[in-house]
Amino acid sequence: MRRILLNSMASVLSWPVAHYIRRKRDGLHELSEPLPSSHRAILESFFDLSDLDRVRIVVQDPLPIPDERFRQLGQLLGLDVPNASLIAGITFDHVIAARSPMPAAMVFHELVHVVQFRLLGIGPFARLYTRGLLSTGRYDDIPLERCAYELEARFEMGLPPFSVEAEVTTWIERERF
Ligand SMILES: [Zn+2]
Repeated sequence: MRRILLNSMASVLSWPVAHYIRRKRDGLHELSEPLPSSHRAILESFFDLSDLDRVRIVVQDPLPIPDERFRQLGQLLGLDVPNASLIAGITFDHVIAARSPMPAAMVFHELVHVVQFRLLGIGPFARLYTRGLLSTGRYDDIPLERCAYELEARFEMGLPPFSVEAEVTTWIERERF
């Protein structure tokens, strides 16, 4: 019963969330720049070149996200939504917004979200993200985030390169999101 309720709530809420993501992506595009070549060289063995080509980066402080409205909504739902001023970066489809120039590991993390967006589509991504937040109550425990943290950790450990697309595909096939 709880599961059904969560799924319906996530479906309803994912509409405005998906709309918000598209609006931000389109609005920020003009201000964005391509991936710096220094990062590109490191990331080429993990990501599809087409993803590295199309990703766009905006560095802006404060981040272009509404703070209070989101936090109030989160609090209303009893969720642990971090204060926007504490968020270092956020990804809208293929546009990454960051407070300051990103180290390689952070770009890696956000690029995992870019791949998740591409493979899932914005609507399903928004629904799964919302459902994850509603069911765990914690931003860091959302499966889409756990996947990104896990792969980022493997990247940081300097293990042999792997395909992020193949990993995300496995998560989707096993319905881990
Ligand atoms: Zn993340």
